[in-house]
Amino acid sequence: MTKAYAAPAAHAPLAPFELTRRAPGPHDVRIEIMYCGVCHSDLHQVRDEWGGSIFPMVPGHEIVGRVSAVGAEVSQFRVGELAGVGCMVDSCRTCPSCQDGLEQYCETTGFVGTYNAREIGTGQPTYGGYSQQIVVDEKYTLRVSDKLDPARVAPLLCAGITTWSPLREWKVGAGHRVGVMGLGGLGHMGVKLAVALGAEVTVLSTSPGKEADAKALGAHKFVVTKDAEQLKAVNGYFDFILNTVSAPLDLASYLNLLRRDGTMILLGVPPEAPQVHAFNLIGRRRRIAGSLIGGIAETQEMLDFCAEHNIMSDIELINVQDIDAAYERMLKGDVKYRFVIDVASLG
Ligand code: NAP
Ligand code: ZN
Ligand code: ZN
Repeated sequence: MTKAYAAPAAHAPLAPFELTRRAPGPHDVRIEIMYCGVCHSDLHQVRDEWGGSIFPMVPGHEIVGRVSAVGAEVSQFRVGELAGVGCMVDSCRTCPSCQDGLEQYCETTGFVGTYNAREIGTGQPTYGGYSQQIVVDEKYTLRVSDKLDPARVAPLLCAGITTWSPLREWKVGAGHRVGVMGLGGLGHMGVKLAVALGAEVTVLSTSPGKEADAKALGAHKFVVTKDAEQLKAVNGYFDFILNTVSAPLDLASYLNLLRRDGTMILLGVPPEAPQVHAFNLIGRRRRIAGSLIGGIAETQEMLDFCAEHNIMSDIELINVQDIDAAYERMLKGDVKYRFVIDVASLG
């Protein structure tokens, strides 16, 4: 039996839960989970804001732990090493996207989420990282450097890769002006990674109190988006905006911050669809794009980059029993800048 914390139903508080992980197959790695980050997607899904949630749900897709068993065919991992698991644990492996190392865009089965999904073949629900142990195919398991603090590495497995993937896809670097909308889990990693890639970074925040933190994270500028004057000053300014906002907002006014040919990349997934008028785009040939987490190979690339550049998440370590309070604080934008569950608190 593996101890876990689960949401029994939408809107119900999380509670202790026990589950059985499969015995490691020939290609599997078993990981004793040490830390699991708390993503806003956990909250959206626990509250069934996107629809179709599977209960009971054990959330958690920012997992770092230590390998405790490997199958006979496993070649990349040894018992005792650190390992990570992000947002997916499987996909079809044969479609063009899977072949391209972009398993998150799997075209046949879709990617199998680390939780709130069903295993290919068995149809069993997947359970995430708010638990003591997980068993994952080595192809979907990440190598984690022991040079970094594992608690602070955990959020890289979603917040890190979700901001890294578009920065790399759009080749963001020196000479680019990047706006990061929303300074939460994704946002603070977006700032660190865009700065490390050489871009000029501006945080676009609704929280005036986050300015000093934004600068400490490496941001060059800070704009309070509720202040019309400050917003006007960056009209037509950005090459790229990473939009990490989790709540509905007036997208049109933010599109005006893009210069000609600028691109807003949607990362946040508010339950409601945004309103956009063609005029917000056509006058300056602006683009709206979206990006979903990242593939396994680029996740490894990001983890290796972070190990090399000493980049980690800024975290608040919590016990699993405090998860509902953490969700409430997250809803208020009061996260500095990622909650991480100390899985030892499962007892
Ligand atoms: P988070 O830590 O809660 O951060 C979201 C930030 O958005 C807040 O800190 C706040 O920043 C800002 N915000 C919140 N409410 C707002 C409002 N009403 N108006 C304007 N700004 C608001 O969440 P997260 O974990 O970073 O996740 C952000 C979103 O990305 C979620 O919707 C999540 O589901 C989604 N996500 C998507 C992917 C993907 O693959 N695309 C992956 C992971 C997560 P300020 O205080 O600075 O305004
Ligand atoms: Zn996530
Ligand atoms: Zn596929």
